[in-house]
Amino acid sequence: MKVKFADPLQDYLQLKTEINAKINDVLDSGHYVGGDSVSRFEKNFAEYCEAEHCVGVGNGFDALRAGLLALGVEAGDEVIVPSMTFIATWLAVSSINAKPVPVDCSENTYHMSLEKLESVISPKTKVIIPVHLYGQVENLASINKIAKQYKISVMEDAAQAHGARYKGKTIGAFSDLVAWSFYPAKNLGAIGDGGAITTNNSQLADKIRKLCNYGSVDKYVHEVQGLNSRLDPLQASILDVKLKSLELWNKNRREIAKFYLDELNGLSIVLPSFDVLNSAWHIFPVLLENRNLVQQRLGDYGVQSLIHYPIPPHKQAAYSRENYSEHDLGVTEQYCTNILSLPMGPHFKEEEIIYVVKQLKKIMESPSYK
Ligand SMILES: *Cc1c(COP(=O)(O)O)cnc(C)c1O
Repeated sequence: MKVKFADPLQDYLQLKTEINAKINDVLDSGHYVGGDSVSRFEKNFAEYCEAEHCVGVGNGFDALRAGLLALGVEAGDEVIVPSMTFIATWLAVSSINAKPVPVDCSENTYHMSLEKLESVISPKTKVIIPVHLYGQVENLASINKIAKQYKISVMEDAAQAHGARYKGKTIGAFSDLVAWSFYPAKNLGAIGDGGAITTNNSQLADKIRKLCNYGSVDKYVHEVQGLNSRLDPLQASILDVKLKSLELWNKNRREIAKFYLDELNGLSIVLPSFDVLNSAWHIFPVLLENRNLVQQRLGDYGVQSLIHYPIPPHKQAAYSRENYSEHDLGVTEQYCTNILSLPMGPHFKEEEIIYVVKQLKKIMESPSYK
């Protein structure tokens, strides 16, 4: 049997008729930037996220970047980021010549260590970016409390957490700003690039809308030096169709996660200790010895697994000119050598997940492992 890691094509095939019809509506409308399909999706996504405002932008990176600009981050400022994240979180900070200040994850979670976080706050710190890595919501209550105490803003990177819940509510407005990506492989993915920011702060929402439209509200009047980053109307119309399936798709992910957790219990493997019913389960990560060997053997059995992420941002060539050696990021470095992501997605058939579990058990219980 062949089991792919994830398969965004299945999202499309399941909704093909409706998506194709909506694409045709946009084509026939004659509005190819902005327009009704964008405002409709913005309204529906804000409602889904229990947020008052949603501003569509070109991609997740731009959502983060525009958010930082709207929060007043300038060159030379510091922004606290997790060391365990996709590099986009860092690059958004670097792109405006601010400095990413990394915080290691605490053992056995993939979240920032709160003690380490507090220890890196300086007078230059402007924003903290908690990342809901793998779909698990960060410790927002504590982070917001620390931020308030030091008068720092908080912007969540929710690129992996569409539909995740926190304290009984869907995430989308628990802090100053929430940045989203609709990259095709995400829980809510476009057929191309897309992004958004949600918030309950109308001033920030207006600021971001203006920033991302050349700094302009009235045509040809430019109040600030803005960017061009807008959610494409074709993508908005597709996202609006898919949004209606997100709850069901996340439910399927949660069931797969539950199955893995039950079945893999007892192996010499560290399973994620996420809140099973409230995480969005973008990814199902495990920690194990001889990771590369296990990944290769799974591949031999036709099971595709991936590594999120093999090299943390501070070890990337892109950041070789900064000096992060004095930062204590040991847990992240250890996790990057031991982490493996198992197949996860809304469209797997039961027998596929049973097969993955069976092969993984076989590999880990074989005498040649270790
Ligand atoms: C995907 C992702 C992004 C970037 O999104 P793009 O739409 O690809 O720009 C940012 N942060 C995290 C954590 C992501 O997983």
